[in-house]
Amino acid sequence: DHYLEVIAAKNQELNVFLEVFEEEARNEAQRIDKKIANNSAGKLAGMVIAIKDNICYANHEINASSKILKGFTSQFTATALQRLLDEDAIIIGRTNCDEFAMGSSNENSAMGVCKNPIDPTRVPGGSSGGSAAAVIGNMCTVSLGSDTGGSIRQPASFCNTVGFKPGYGRVSRYGLIAYASSFDQIGPFSNNIEDSELVYSVMAGNDPMDSTSSTAPVTLSNELKSSPKKIAFLKPAIKAQGIDSEIEKYFEKAEEKLTKAGYEVTWVEFNWLDYLVPIYYILTTAEASSNLARYDGMHFGFRDKSAKGIDDIYVKSRSKGFGEEVKRRILLGTFVLSSGFYDSYFGKAQKIRRLVKEDTEKILKEHPIIALPTTPSGAFKLEENTDDPIKMYLQDIFTVQANITGKPAISLPLMTDSQGLPVGFQLMADSKKEDELFAVSKEIN
Ligand code: GLN
Repeated sequence: DHYLEVIAAKNQELNVFLEVFEEEARNEAQRIDKKIANNSAGKLAGMVIAIKDNICYANHEINASSKILKGFTSQFTATALQRLLDEDAIIIGRTNCDEFAMGSSNENSAMGVCKNPIDPTRVPGGSSGGSAAAVIGNMCTVSLGSDTGGSIRQPASFCNTVGFKPGYGRVSRYGLIAYASSFDQIGPFSNNIEDSELVYSVMAGNDPMDSTSSTAPVTLSNELKSSPKKIAFLKPAIKAQGIDSEIEKYFEKAEEKLTKAGYEVTWVEFNWLDYLVPIYYILTTAEASSNLARYDGMHFGFRDKSAKGIDDIYVKSRSKGFGEEVKRRILLGTFVLSSGFYDSYFGKAQKIRRLVKEDTEKILKEHPIIALPTTPSGAFKLEENTDDPIKMYLQDIFTVQANITGKPAISLPLMTDSQGLPVGFQLMADSKKEDELFAVSKEIN
């Protein structure tokens, strides 16, 4: 009732939820109350969760904030979501996001921009902007987002929440609308680290419906005998040009604090920072151009009624159904994959992906945790970056490394920039070391 009241009071202004499952949520709450009384409730009883509009929930509409999916209803439930339901989570509604999870400000949504509850003249970040806003706006306990290049951590940074991207393969992608399949992961937003770890522990683990899902056992921070005490500060990120001066200062203070707490802090070099955004946008647009080929006006959602014949249906439905940013990425992706350009763009980017992974793993071998800012500064103003896609893409400079390498990473609400706006402190760990990532996060917090 509390969350529904807040949503009723604030959603019109902020546009956080695209749909609220009001009656259903109330009914579920009553059903779960009875289970609690019988001592038979699941691990998530009492937790109210919002889901990003790209996670399938059977018999519920799903749009990925795109006109092309208007009116489309999910046929099945995503594995990650099903596991939450099985533990008695209440799903309160679906949240606004950038169309097909493509963006860094939630301004690419066909359902209108979502505003940052901390300061509604600013963006909440993207693409999972609505999910971050729902948590900080007190409209749910936890929310789910998806992170292909930072879409959980960057909005978490802008909205002062915890945002966690599991390592690639840890949480099933079955039922997550695909953007770039070798990068995508579902993960939680929460007000504290414990809630994120709890929700992650329920969602994670092998799923035969996702062939890239890991079979490794999922271990948690409380099962660790000791947590790592060596941490690498990624120097070129913390000292990057254009980084807010308060962020640099925060890291210097953090070094002192961590050293006192028994950590060995090392400032490490990393030579690939300038390559990360270009290779991310080559590889993800290539994958997206293929993944989005299925929206042809025949199988899903929107079809242009004026079209005559099959080619015309494809062209008109896609031209009218997709937004500008999605079209830009389909074009870019098709270009980098086309014969004649494949070797110089896609092929090269694949090779650099491998080198980035190798160098990141080299650092992680010696220092189990890497720390860097989540974003170069706090949330920007609405429309501040909309006329320049490159400026918008550069927002992702510190988040894409974890997706390119498939590593788990978390954004913690610890810093503010010189304007007093929240900025995330980001930690990254090696594959299958989510337990260590959570353990160190709790200590640093
Ligand atoms: N901002 C990045 C992009 O636009 C990340 C998106 C994501 O993680 N889904 O691609």
